Amino acid sequence: MTAYGPLLNGDALIGLHCPACHVPFTIRDWLAQVPIGPGGDPAARAAARMDAVFRPVTVAVHWSCHTGHNNPPADRVANVSNARNWWQI
Ligand SMILES: [Zn+2]
Repeated sequence: MTAYGPLLNGDALIGLHCPACHVPFTIRDWLAQVPIGPGGDPAARAAARMDAVFRPVTVAVHWSCHTGHNNPPADRVANVSNARNWWQI
């Protein structure tokens, strides 16, 4: 599991609500990217039906909401811009 962040002033996710705790994302937050499923992509849906590998749609949640830890280990961090397909629910 990769931790993305910390969020910086101007990041697009700031102000959106974490679907796990409903608290808005703010600067210095660390995020986890949680897979949901294939979403609307027909190829991903077909792969999911066959239990094959596909790139899932994901949502952002606070790192602490996903792991219980306030801060991620240093060897698990990445810049938020490296995350892909953030979907907000
Ligand atoms: Zn949260």
